[in-house]
Amino acid sequence: MRALQLLAERELAVTRREHPASPGPGEVQLRIRVVGLNHIDVWGFRGMAFAKRQYPLVVGAEAAGEVVAIGEGVTNLAPGDRVVPYAALVCGTCKPCRTGRENLCENPSGVRGFHIDGFAQELTNHPARLVVKIPPGVDLRDAATVPVAYATVEHMLFDNARLEPGEWILVQAGGSGIGSIAIRIAKSIGCTVITTVGSADKAAKARALGADHVINYREDRFEGVVRKLTARKGVDVVFEHTGADTWAGSLFSLKRGGRLVTCGATSGPSGNINLMQLFQQQYRIIGSFGAPLSAMTRALDRIAAGVRPVIDTVFALEDFRAGLARLEARDVFGKLLVEL
Ligand SMILES: [Zn+2]
Repeated sequence: MRALQLLAERELAVTRREHPASPGPGEVQLRIRVVGLNHIDVWGFRGMAFAKRQYPLVVGAEAAGEVVAIGEGVTNLAPGDRVVPYAALVCGTCKPCRTGRENLCENPSGVRGFHIDGFAQELTNHPARLVVKIPPGVDLRDAATVPVAYATVEHMLFDNARLEPGEWILVQAGGSGIGSIAIRIAKSIGCTVITTVGSADKAAKARALGADHVINYREDRFEGVVRKLTARKGVDVVFEHTGADTWAGSLFSLKRGGRLVTCGATSGPSGNINLMQLFQQQYRIIGSFGAPLSAMTRALDRIAAGVRPVIDTVFALEDFRAGLARLEARDVFGKLLVEL
């Protein structure tokens, strides 16, 4: 069968692998159809100094497919079921796992596609407890955005930032995979959305998505525009993932008691914080990484209800590298997918 493997840092190749063995007890075998690209793939491709792993490594942390076989003791799934797999191999027995906070697992054995073999291969085995069924009416492409991107946004907005209908939100980088999803979700619950983009073309697309105010950060200082739009009060929630370039402005855009939730630092990992501002303005700054399984289920239900992800381009497996280059260059509006 075909697989896409990282042979060394920055060296990707489509290879032939043996089919996996039959699924073991508690496992299912999946036929992978679509893989989603995320910044974790860019980090993985570049090679991250602290990531313990061995080459060759099958890439792909986010996927959708079908169950083709089930192992002993699996009762909740059957061949033919359409599913999305949870990328982190969490233990299932520690307290966070038992209380539905799997992304805080105390004994994870790696993230697929990053530390251990991922989903960019035709067939793979996966624990049945870490698989979520795709509801009717949701296609495999939309579903493939769920495990990493859509579920992360779901977790950030609702579990972490506690976004409420009617609130104002600033979504940084509205053209990114997660930014575009955040705009759609926030609009769907009746929020007022301000977003930043880096070109006129993306500004038009963000408006078409429903953003109420779009700021081209190359032309205007976004924090000044946000203050003006909110009568100097600031927004209730800032959705951050760009990091160094926007950090100070994001904090300045928050209203008193506002919440900033962040899941990334694509422009750099360091930012200053004025501690006087932090406590006087009573900001809440929340780090968010991954999502619990329950957020995947909620994300799929949200898509079934019509809040679909934005898909920019679907590549062939051979063109995974081109997709990564587009992500690195921020030359996207929405999600990039690879079909097997
Ligand atoms: Zn655990």
